[in-house]
Amino acid sequence: MNFTELARKLNINPNELRRILPLVGFDIGAKAIKIDKRIANRIIQNWKSLFNQYKRIMEEERRLAEEEAIKTEVKEVELPALITVRDFASRLKLPINRLMEILMKNGIFVSLNEKIDYETAAIIAMDLGIEASKCEETAAFANGGDITRSEHLHELLKQQDGGDIKERPPVAVVMGHVDHGKTKLLDYIRKTNVIDKEAGGITQHIGAYQAKKNGRLITFIDTPGHEAFTAMRSRGAKIADIAILVVAADDGVKPQTVEAIKIIEQVKLPFVVAVNKMDKKEANIDKVKQELSSHNVVVEDWGGKAVCAPISAKDGTGVSELLDMLLLSADMEKEKRKVGYGGEAVGTIIESHIDKGEGPVATVLIQKGTLKKGDFISINKQFFGKIRFMKNCAGKETDQAVPSAPVKISGFKNLAQVGDVMEAAAEKAQKGKIKKIRMAGGAGKEQFAVKESEGEESDDIQFLNIILKTDVLGSTEVISESLEKVEAGDIKIKIINRGLGNITEADVMQVEAIINNQKESDETMLIGFNVKAPQSVDIFAKEKNIKIKIYTIIYDLLNQARDAIKAMTKAKIVKKEIGRISVLEVFRTEKGKSIIGGKVLDGTVKKGAKIEILRNKEKVGEGDLAGLQSAKQEVLSVEKDSECGILLQCKTAIEKGDKLIVYQEEEE
Ligand code: GDP
Repeated sequence: MNFTELARKLNINPNELRRILPLVGFDIGAKAIKIDKRIANRIIQNWKSLFNQYKRIMEEERRLAEEEAIKTEVKEVELPALITVRDFASRLKLPINRLMEILMKNGIFVSLNEKIDYETAAIIAMDLGIEASKCEETAAFANGGDITRSEHLHELLKQQDGGDIKERPPVAVVMGHVDHGKTKLLDYIRKTNVIDKEAGGITQHIGAYQAKKNGRLITFIDTPGHEAFTAMRSRGAKIADIAILVVAADDGVKPQTVEAIKIIEQVKLPFVVAVNKMDKKEANIDKVKQELSSHNVVVEDWGGKAVCAPISAKDGTGVSELLDMLLLSADMEKEKRKVGYGGEAVGTIIESHIDKGEGPVATVLIQKGTLKKGDFISINKQFFGKIRFMKNCAGKETDQAVPSAPVKISGFKNLAQVGDVMEAAAEKAQKGKIKKIRMAGGAGKEQFAVKESEGEESDDIQFLNIILKTDVLGSTEVISESLEKVEAGDIKIKIINRGLGNITEADVMQVEAIINNQKESDETMLIGFNVKAPQSVDIFAKEKNIKIKIYTIIYDLLNQARDAIKAMTKAKIVKKEIGRISVLEVFRTEKGKSIIGGKVLDGTVKKGAKIEILRNKEKVGEGDLAGLQSAKQEVLSVEKDSECGILLQCKTAIEKGDKLIVYQEEEE
């Protein structure tokens, strides 16, 4: 028996079968094309138990690998206040996948380059029997060897590649304790220092906005509250040039104020203090100054260096002075802000979500160069797409964005992540870069594949799109690899996105956006492996008529993909000749009908079959064999060499001597 036939009978990918058989005692040779029929039959008969045996072996291997992976010779480790997962794994001498698995089991869902704090890291280390102690290095930039996102960005920003060198506007971030007035202050500045009054005031929240003071632009990161901290951390504090530390005059220094001070110190960010809510009766600025000094923030009038402005975000008192101070402080480091304008743009994603109407949208803060409509962009060195549409923070469509400007980009097929580094180039140059990236064949390249990357061919190809959520990176890799090997004929399996953790509403929305944009013949599946879809997400998906499929066995998952492909494959209709008739006599012809006498030359002709009319070997028409008579009896079929009466439905006038090819249509 052909090996592929055996695989087909077992409904399994031949490559996978080749892997399984030796493990369950059938050594058939790595390249065998044919397999002894008796052996094949034995395999078929015992397949269920063989496959179960295989699953048990794999399970055992996985367990052993896990045990192996968790063993590390590290007994003690020094950790900074903040550490990337990548760096943490390398210090523990653990495989990254394994560490991420452990983190996830502890409810911490982070990506490779995200940072966790010392307390969390120490607990994880303790669980592994490793003693952790704190070291004094500057945490924000610590990492263990491999280049991180922020280092990549740093490298890019250092490169001088043309364009006019000019000072870009400072980028400010507002930090402080919850309810101390960060949002109110951002809103006040937004309202009073609008850059584009004609646009009818700024209404768009895109993650950042620009305001004008004394004719100078300032960019404000518009994610206040605790998010600002997280954002600052995950972005390695590389996007902000200066911070405003908001402290409410009636409440004083609180835990998040202290946390903000720590971050500011760690990343050596210049800052000004805004003592807010000065309009309140309970306001006590001296108490605030005193509390600040006990956290090493000594204000100028107390002999220190910290710049401090009393304000009221409610009525605007002092905000103008605050902005003057902000610009002055930022000017101390203006050399650092000199970048090339006009060249290829580099930026960081500061906001990203799926918009109901527009699909995936992202706000990028340009850090150097000029981003232009039509530019090709890559994110984290992976090709991502072409800029079709940009809006500035005033909600106006724009053709270009210069350094320190935030712009909202829409039209992508995939969701970028906050903190991702974006590089842009004119079409031609970027295509060269993309080629290199593709040749390098980085894992997860499909994750960023978008329609443009497929070129013209994508219009003809049918895609089975998959959004995959798994428990651990290891499963993601195995499943992606296996999916790539599924025989799909003309259909292409495309893993649009893969992620770790439970299925979320955002995943459902992403699937919805893809479905709304895909060709009618494409399919999109939301698949989870060893993860859950919380009930609320399940309900959300049902409302949107999106099916979530969850598996715990890879084999079942792959079978589902195969079934989907089968369902997508349109059956080909083939003509199968069943006989031939020679026309001996034409008795009557009227309105699309002919009654003729004929002789079956070949095969067996059947009532209901279709015919093609040949005259002098050329096709002159076609029709249906609507009735058959033999010996004046209505019959269903007539065999070779018999004569018969035939009722034909056809538009062509039949002539004596014509040949009729009788055929049936079958699905293949
Ligand atoms: P956030 O959590 O730091 O963003 O704080 P919000 O901006 O949401 O402000 C918290 C509360 O304080 C809101 O009810 C604001 O209206 C109020 N608030 C903010 N700034 C002032 C101010 O300067 N004076 C007064 N009286 N109330 C303020």
